[in-house]
Amino acid sequence: MTNNAKRLLFLFVFLVCSDVILLAQSPCRVERQELEKHIYTLASDSLAGRMTGEFGQKMAAGYIADHFRQIGLSPFISDTGYFQYFTLYETIQAQVMFGGIRTEVPVIAISEGYGEFADTCIFLFGHKRISVDRDRLEGDNALLLIRTRNIRQARNLIRHHYRQGVRRFAMVTDGPYWSYHLMNYTMPQRRYRLTRTSDEKRVDKIVRGLDSVFVVMLKPGEIARVIGFRPDFEMLEQESARHGTMVQVGSKIFYEHQPLQVKEVVTENVVGLMKGARGLDEVVILTAHYDHVGVDSKGVNVGADDNASGTAALIESARILQCRKDTGAVYERSVLFVAFSAEEVGLLGSEYFVASDDFARVKPLVNLNMDMIGRSVRYGMWEALMLQSGGGGHKEDMNQREPYVYLLNRGKSTRKYVQYARQSAKAMSEEFTIDRSPGSMTKLTFRKSSDHANFLDKGIPALVWFTGLHPDYHTPHDTPDKIDYDNMLRITRVLIGTIDLILNQ
Ligand SMILES: [Zn+2]
Repeated sequence: MTNNAKRLLFLFVFLVCSDVILLAQSPCRVERQELEKHIYTLASDSLAGRMTGEFGQKMAAGYIADHFRQIGLSPFISDTGYFQYFTLYETIQAQVMFGGIRTEVPVIAISEGYGEFADTCIFLFGHKRISVDRDRLEGDNALLLIRTRNIRQARNLIRHHYRQGVRRFAMVTDGPYWSYHLMNYTMPQRRYRLTRTSDEKRVDKIVRGLDSVFVVMLKPGEIARVIGFRPDFEMLEQESARHGTMVQVGSKIFYEHQPLQVKEVVTENVVGLMKGARGLDEVVILTAHYDHVGVDSKGVNVGADDNASGTAALIESARILQCRKDTGAVYERSVLFVAFSAEEVGLLGSEYFVASDDFARVKPLVNLNMDMIGRSVRYGMWEALMLQSGGGGHKEDMNQREPYVYLLNRGKSTRKYVQYARQSAKAMSEEFTIDRSPGSMTKLTFRKSSDHANFLDKGIPALVWFTGLHPDYHTPHDTPDKIDYDNMLRITRVLIGTIDLILNQ
């Protein structure tokens, strides 16, 4: 090789390398591998589905805060920096265990003043027209078994027998009408809440006004497991009517009542600020929840799309905007970057945030909320839910993927932001659709579907970024390998472009 050739080669290598270096150093441009890195970390098995209050959620919070720190966002929460801690109250449903058989059944009502007990009982069967056998009741702590077909009948029967001294009831029920009500009676109104209030001792309509009453609910299959056989209720009813008294259907059984408990759960939102020239006077609030639903009987719900995807875009938007600011961009307005916890348990992280003193310091302009922006196959919402009820794990045709995002908004004042998003999408060289018609179901449900609900409730306009529901939603199949990273990259670029326009409007 001649010296000249060497020199030329050197020059060539230098030019190629410097170009590579420049590319690698183009710090103010969001890169696909960064999004991938965040999603694979946040949605790894070791974070165990980031359940609010649990280890995985704390790990994720630490991960996000570390990035906010590296990026150079200002801590925003008084005294605690990036973390906004808050306490939730988790209601753990009361239960009854029948000894030996260990059947767990829901307690549908415990009236105020009813104490804990662990005792033996006999099951007695009775219906409306019989008199109460007092000896039996008092001698053995009887649990009166009543067959009911609906709530009103249950209520009347309980009241009838209550007047005669019965205080413990087991109701055996069947029929679809009941199962609808069963939901209402066995599920607490909200399992998690921000205040330690009312439903600590939940009193249902059927026992309202009655003192010291305990009602447990048994499905026909469960009563058979508890007393050892499936009673023939038609026959029992006739027999009890013939004798005009209660009929004993079970012998002594040990049972234990576990009262309703309230557990405190401490969790945290992660908040960082990029301050513009106008300070806290006009602030864009970019949000994504980072918690998920944890582990259940089907496995670890790693929540890659829901919502490691939004969280990844949140971190990268912070990085890019702060980078632009650090390299000379002048922004009039500020951006608050908020990663919410406790979204999956009832939008509680955002509910706490919007009511907090820290947020009161801010004049909010608009909330941009990202929840599930990682998929790009357009399922209808019904279709997705139907397929999801089969357990998820549906195989997607990757060829059906398209570059788009659904953009949903509320209020006239948000229209200009939609315009900015369109403008931003247009400026991007790749093909991309801002889709404003996600289907009627999505349109109907979006108002309450994620953390933006709490901003809307406060009269703050919101713009929601979403790629749609899919069969893997809230199943262990919502994994990082199913994310369309190219589409996510485009969404994040359009989002950053949109914020850029808002910051200087
Ligand atoms: Zn979500």
